[in-house]
Amino acid sequence: MIMQTDKSYIDMLLTELFPICRSISGNGNRRTFDILSELIPLNKYEIKSGTRVFDWTVPKEWNIQDAWIKDSSGKKLVDFKNNNLHIVNYSMPYQGIVDYDELLTHLHTLPSNPDAIPYRTTYYKETWGFCLSHNELLEKFKPNEKYEVNIESSFNSAGSMTYADCRKKGSKKKEYLISTYCCHPSLANDNLSGLILSCLLFREILSFNTYYTFRLIIVPETIGCIAYLFNNQSNMHNVVGGYVITTVAGPGEFGYKSSFLGNHEIDIAANIALKDQNYIKYPFIPDGSDERQYSSPGFRIPMGTITKDKYYEYNEYHTSQDNLNFISSDNLLETLKIYKKAIQLLEMNRIYKRTEPHCEFFLSKHGLYPTVGGKQQQPSHLGANSHNSFCYDITTKISSGDEIDAFSWLMHLLDGDESIFDIHIKSKIDVEILYNCAEKLKTANLVTEV
Ligand code: ZN
Repeated sequence: MIMQTDKSYIDMLLTELFPICRSISGNGNRRTFDILSELIPLNKYEIKSGTRVFDWTVPKEWNIQDAWIKDSSGKKLVDFKNNNLHIVNYSMPYQGIVDYDELLTHLHTLPSNPDAIPYRTTYYKETWGFCLSHNELLEKFKPNEKYEVNIESSFNSAGSMTYADCRKKGSKKKEYLISTYCCHPSLANDNLSGLILSCLLFREILSFNTYYTFRLIIVPETIGCIAYLFNNQSNMHNVVGGYVITTVAGPGEFGYKSSFLGNHEIDIAANIALKDQNYIKYPFIPDGSDERQYSSPGFRIPMGTITKDKYYEYNEYHTSQDNLNFISSDNLLETLKIYKKAIQLLEMNRIYKRTEPHCEFFLSKHGLYPTVGGKQQQPSHLGANSHNSFCYDITTKISSGDEIDAFSWLMHLLDGDESIFDIHIKSKIDVEILYNCAEKLKTANLVTEV
């Protein structure tokens, strides 16, 4: 397995995955999972069409070979092979001659953005349709003309829907989710960017000894997430929260959509990771992506979303203009850095308890009182061994003053209830410094992990 997260590697993945016609089921999704399996070891699952999952039923598997509209001279006016957004996703097969008025009822355009092809789906209603730019409609289609329509698609009731996961067992059972969706055809920010970022982030998680357990879930949005949760109800008991990763590589500002709690540890980690950026705060509302399913009463898993050009908020959203020219691998790498930082912070958010709870420790006796002023270049225990752990990207230089403050707060609060994040909120001291000092206390056998 090649460990590359550089620009050219991401560009290669984008170029390879972008043209594939994905949907909520079908061979495009399988091919996507095969390509992503070269990055990380994905477990792939097939859920039979017709399976009841809570209030939903897994639909028939849909595949498409070709689709076009020709005018009476035989000239192709719209061709799925030029852009897979041209077909309404999940269109039924159809061959026939239709007149202009009838054809219009099956055509979708965006008059407000006349050069863009809209993205439309018809998962749960058997019909067919084409999408095209409004300008193409005006130029190419004329009243009183007849048109030949050809849609070579298939519905298979004996087929299935594919999803995938991957799990990294940490030293604790407490588990965090990374979830993304794979059902969009040739659309770049929503959500090919999220699909690639999730796999790159998880590949990094896999390469370290993590303290907590992590689970990556890649599903067709909504129905795939519902099916996954239906099939993994007991596996969700240790899951405390996570991130739904989508729209991460646009040219605009970062954003953070908070969990339904707003102050959960995943929110704290995301907000700290973003603190040096200008970013838009989006409160939780029950729309958007699969946080709707994870946060439902039966699961109540808080999920946040860090974005770069959030879905709904940019003009190119759900159109052919959300393409590889709109996003960039540089932007994707920037957001990956933020997500990685959030995961590192979560890894540092541990709970410790003093072995001797009475009064302060005599720090000098344990070699912990910083006797020399000035800056420490690198905390001593962050040496060679630290590379085994995910949380050591500490760039903060710790001053002796910071360290004394951190020890004071830790000695005051390490009673086995307060986490590093709790102490960070009360003391305003950086999570990295608190964690580093707590680990020093642990090495000196003055505290234990809870
Ligand atoms: Zn979407």
